[in-house]
Amino acid sequence: MSENQKKHIAILGSTGSIGTQALEVIAANSDRFQVEVLTAHSNADLLAEQALKFKANAVVIHDESKYKALKDRLFDEGIKVFCGRDALAEVVEMETIDLVLTALVGFAGLKPTMRAIAAGKQIALANKETLVVAGELITKAAREKGVNIYPVDSEHSAIFQCLSGEFHNPIEKIYLTASGGPFRGMSLQDLKSVTPAQALKHPNWDMGAKITIDSASMMNKGLEVIEAKWLFGLKPEQIDIVVHPQSIIHSIVQFEDGSMKAQMGLPDMKLPIQYALGYPERIKSDFPRFDFMKYPQLTFEKPDYKAFRNLQFAFDAMQKGGNAPCVLNAANEIAVKEFLAGNIGFLAMSDLIEDCLQNVTYIAQPRLENYFETDSETRAYASSKISSL
Ligand code: NAD
Ligand code: MG
Repeated sequence: MSENQKKHIAILGSTGSIGTQALEVIAANSDRFQVEVLTAHSNADLLAEQALKFKANAVVIHDESKYKALKDRLFDEGIKVFCGRDALAEVVEMETIDLVLTALVGFAGLKPTMRAIAAGKQIALANKETLVVAGELITKAAREKGVNIYPVDSEHSAIFQCLSGEFHNPIEKIYLTASGGPFRGMSLQDLKSVTPAQALKHPNWDMGAKITIDSASMMNKGLEVIEAKWLFGLKPEQIDIVVHPQSIIHSIVQFEDGSMKAQMGLPDMKLPIQYALGYPERIKSDFPRFDFMKYPQLTFEKPDYKAFRNLQFAFDAMQKGGNAPCVLNAANEIAVKEFLAGNIGFLAMSDLIEDCLQNVTYIAQPRLENYFETDSETRAYASSKISSL
């Protein structure tokens, strides 16, 4: 492939779990993909290393204290260096970018994702929080701009893969599979005393800290339900969760004739990342292959809504609509941060989220600026409650 036939990619959050795996995929397929922009929060050393290895055109570092040293290191190599939140939102508009992989974590993804869509860039979306917060605005903007949003989340990639060749056929319902996380089977009583260190040990996936805690509290699945609603245009009653501890079946679509299609494979995020970057092609890979004899039993269970209250909160926030999912997300971001810092217990995370959903100002039809207000109000309210939990 000649240089200008390659897909030119910006990775927001290139130093994280998804970002580094995306770079592995790109390194293995350098005939197809060219790195254009890389960004990170504060790991300037890794960002510089990546920029030099992949000959990036530009980088953005969020942490201003790291800017000067990074610029000194990359300037002579002809790599542009920017810093700060506004730069992140601006850099995605660069003319040379074809596709933006949103692999940063949390609400911080909203602004750059909106700007990338407005600039007509294709999106490979890992940053599910953005779609949870503002799914209606984002999917509307993408439709208007003719921008495709390719899911990177493994469950949503599975649904997307099952829908290939079926886009004219209505979906009856989807089943999102959930591993159940490290605390599957535990009661509320058991969950009282679990620690951050225990919550950070996921049985099947190696991921960033925030999503690992979300998996332990089942909030990750709650966020994914809302993500699926927007990605696939579903009603809440068309989305179900099934616990599948082996994480081999990544999700299932049921059509109106009763037929079900599932996508399966070993749990490895490189596959959905590669599918999103390479769509519509399946690129040959050397990822390890599934062996049936190593998994003689694939099992399924009902999710426990009593022990994992976050699941119900997510369904409730989705039903309520408006800015409720934005409140859910911001409250959860604060809850996870405070749990990881050892300031609140595991179950207090759900108490905090419930409190925020009941007390933060409800807006039925939010505009973009309302999401920023709701996010700030929720964070301030949640932070003020920490000492009483
Ligand atoms: P991570 O913590 O490993 O990496 C996050 C990246 O974003 C880092 O490069 C960090 O520097 C950057 N970043 C963090 N906060 C930022 C901010 N405020 N401004 C700018 N940059 C910032 O996270 P991850 O596990 O790679 O997850 C990234 C996203 O992908 C999340 O939304 C997560 O839910 C989603 N996701 C991850 C996985 C996985 O396997 N890790 C699977 C499915 C979905
Ligand atoms: Mg997932």
